[in-house]
Order: sequence, then structure tokens, then C-alpha cells
Amino acid sequence: MDLGIKDRVAVVAASSRGLGKAVAEALAAEGAKLALCARNEKTLAATAESIRNRWGVEVLGRALDVTDSEAVKKFVAATFERFGRVDIGVANAGGPPSKGFAETTLEDWRQAFELNFMSTLYLVRELLPHMRKQKWGRIVTITSITVKQPTEGLILSNAIRAAVAGLMKSLANECAADNILFNNVCPGFTATDRLNDVASAQAAAQGVPREEIVGRWTRNIPLGRLGRPEEFGSVVAFLCSERAGYVTGTSTAIDGGVVKGVY
Ligand code: NAD
Repeated sequence: MDLGIKDRVAVVAASSRGLGKAVAEALAAEGAKLALCARNEKTLAATAESIRNRWGVEVLGRALDVTDSEAVKKFVAATFERFGRVDIGVANAGGPPSKGFAETTLEDWRQAFELNFMSTLYLVRELLPHMRKQKWGRIVTITSITVKQPTEGLILSNAIRAAVAGLMKSLANECAADNILFNNVCPGFTATDRLNDVASAQAAAQGVPREEIVGRWTRNIPLGRLGRPEEFGSVVAFLCSERAGYVTGTSTAIDGGVVKGVY
């Protein structure tokens, strides 16, 4: 299926590796032009170069921290200056630390709120005025299955990512008249560098082989395996596309069936 987004311009945050990079690749495969950001300039430049070479699309890269509202503002302005429009925005960032309520400090809450909620707000605020004028826009947030089913020991993610989903649902209603669609995606266990690092760290801490840790995770996943980043990227690219023109205000799990609830 042609997703109908050739030459559309997409801003993808936190995209030098992992899920953000997979989304960038999927959009580039459809011929979208990209503006990418992440903190590490070298890794980001390598990602931008490999996407340009693989898909032949224009890619702008800017090293920044998504919790820096001024830097996000300049990044979107630079994207607009380079491409003359912005059609698609994908909000993403690193995850908050794993903790139970008793271990969290107020500073943990403030930092997690900045990292996962305010970073989304900073990006959306900059993108909306352009999208409103052109009466076309797609915004997708990358959160977690914790939005649908809280995970033990992840209280920061459980609480703050649900707020992101609430923001998206509200914006979907508020901006529908301008043809700007807002959707949230909830990754389950997906084999990115980060998840691989988590598996190795848990294996070392518990003195068991890495396969044992991955095996414990996959036993609870109906599809019986970790997700592949490209499987995640293709669902997000669809939600960012012309073809998804009647989909807004959703939170979609991309999780191999691991969420046990109906919705
Ligand atoms: P990753 O560590 O592989 O990639 C994260 C990317 O974000 C990197 O490009 C990194 O440079 C960038 N980044 C992190 N913090 C940033 C910041 N403050 N400013 C700018 N860039 C920043 O992680 P991932 O596995 O791709 O996960 C992406 C998001 O999805 C995270 O929030 C994670 O918690 C969430 N998530 C991942 C999984 C999974 O299984 N991979 C499952 C549920 C939720």
C-alpha cells in the first residue's frame, strides 16, 4: 500500500537509535523528508547519513535535548526554514527510571514529567501553528504499554505516560476541525539497543544467562517473541499517513498481545 506521504515533512524526536530511528526509517521508506534530533551529535549524524544513503530522502539532523523548550523551538524553526512546511510530528524521549513509589523522590517525579510529558508539549506547541494553517497534520506520541496496563516497579512511567495519552485524546478533539490527527502508540517489549542493555544488566545482576531474562519476558507475550523495531515503525508510519485519515484519539498497543485488557 502506498501510504501517500511522499515529500511530506516529518519531525521525529529522539531518533538517533531505537524506536525513534525505526519510525524515521519507515517514513523515509515512504519518501517523507525528515528532521531528526537526539542528544548525541555523532550518533545522530551517522543515523541521518545512513537514512539518506538507504532511502535517498533529505534529512536534517540537530543535536538537542527534548526537555529544552528553546532548543525544540529552534529545531522546528530550522525544519520549517529548510523544508518550508511540517506535516508530521513524532514525540519520543528516553524512559524514566524503574522505581516503586517508596523509592521515588520529588525530583524523580519532576524529571520524569519533564522528560516524558513536557517534552511532548514543547514539540506539539511548535508544530500546531504550522499544521493549523495548512489544515493537515499528524502527531504521534511514543509512550508504553504502561498506559494500558501499569507495570510493577515502573510507577513514573505508569503515571506520566497516561497523562500524555490524555493530552493526545484532548488534542484530537480540539484540533479535528483543522484536520490534525493525534494518536498515541504503546510499545511492548521491542528489541532495541536499550532493551538489549536492560536484558544484559538484569542477567549480570542476577547471575543468569541473558537468554533466561529474555525468556521470562517472552513467556508472557502471546506471540512468543520480542517485537522488531521495524514492526513498530511501520504501524507508526501508517498512523502518520494519508491512509489513516479517519484515525484520531487512539492509543494503540504494538506489543505482541502482552496487554491483557480488552482496550
Ligand atoms: P533507546 O534508548 O534505544 O533510544 C532512545 C532514543 O532517544 C535515542 O536516540 C536517544 O539518543 C534519544 N533520547 C533519549 N533521551 C533524550 C532526550 N532527553 N533528548 C533527546 N533525545 C533523547 O530507547 P527505545 O527502546 O527506542 O525507547 C524509546 C521510548 O519508548 C522510551 O521512552 C522507552 O521507555 C519507551 N519504551 C520502549 C520499549 C522497548 O521495549 N524498547 C517498551 C516500552 C516503552
